[in-house]
Amino acid sequence: MIRVICLGIEGTAQKLGVGIVDSSGKILANITKYQPLVAGIHPREAAQHHAEHMKDVIKKSLQKSKLTLDDITLVAFSKGPGLGPCLRVAAIAARTIALIKKIPIIGVNHCIAHIEIGRLINRVEDPLTLYVSGGNTQVIAFDEGRYRVFGETLDIAIGNCIDQFARTANLGSPGGPKVEKLALNGKYIPLPYVVKGMDLSFSGIYTAAVDSLKHHKIEDVCFSLQETAFSMLTEVTERALAHTEKDEVMLVGGVGANKRLQEMLRTMSGEHGATFTVPQPEFLGDNGAMIAWLGILMYSSGEKQSIEETNVKQRFRTDEVIVKWRE
Ligand code: AMP
Ligand code: MG
Repeated sequence: MIRVICLGIEGTAQKLGVGIVDSSGKILANITKYQPLVAGIHPREAAQHHAEHMKDVIKKSLQKSKLTLDDITLVAFSKGPGLGPCLRVAAIAARTIALIKKIPIIGVNHCIAHIEIGRLINRVEDPLTLYVSGGNTQVIAFDEGRYRVFGETLDIAIGNCIDQFARTANLGSPGGPKVEKLALNGKYIPLPYVVKGMDLSFSGIYTAAVDSLKHHKIEDVCFSLQETAFSMLTEVTERALAHTEKDEVMLVGGVGANKRLQEMLRTMSGEHGATFTVPQPEFLGDNGAMIAWLGILMYSSGEKQSIEETNVKQRFRTDEVIVKWRE
């Protein structure tokens, strides 16, 4: 089989990533550039950031891989879900490369890209995945040709909940690591635990946590926010695990860096005789390599997209994609 070399562009939110991966699964480059966050993410400003740094990040990625644009045989980009203005910048860059170099282009689903890079890097076969980030909260498993969503947030994402709380409490951003550190010295106070069937809600816990700051120590509120929200996530993941009878649990997305969340999921997985995996930080949060790798998987399974079909999709659901690259 001829070697495919894919350049993948990630740009769903505040991170711009460019990765280069070949069809054997070798990661040749994975460069990420963050937009510094001050008061939360502003879609147009983030898009402006991506546009300004696109050329440089592509160049760095090519340098790292010791390749030139002429060596690239496929280009992939994050089609969605994400913020419209950011998605369009990544799509335009990818289309430009495809047209100039006359190579195929593939727009991919960002959530599935997280799962596929985790499967590649951590050598897991068929995991039940908890995907937790600034913009997404989903429990996902492969079943009959698609990645099915077994549970998800009904309002804001867990990362957004933590970041908003941290901003209101003047902890700075991103909030996740700050809240995690403060939580180490906290004790429990009750906060609303909202699980509805297999779905979750985090807006009530955010409001209650902010309100609790008036009467409680910040450490206690951080501890309780984590304990409550992460227990909710673990409960839904556990029920999905019991239902799907998978024997691997994988945690992906930026919030997956949290040691307490990892601990809860590891314990729960162990109780069910399932292994627990979390990719290393480089591949845990948003990155270009995951987009490139999913591009390769889709291309190798016969996927073709015309330039006209490379429109972006802000609400691109995980379960819309027909997964031809898996048995
Ligand atoms: P992503 O959207 O995947 O790029 O991840 C960004 C999100 O991960 C933000 O909401 C961060 O606050 C969150 N995050 C990063 N590190 C941690 C951590 N140690 N604990 C909890 N959340 C985290
Ligand atoms: Mg993500």
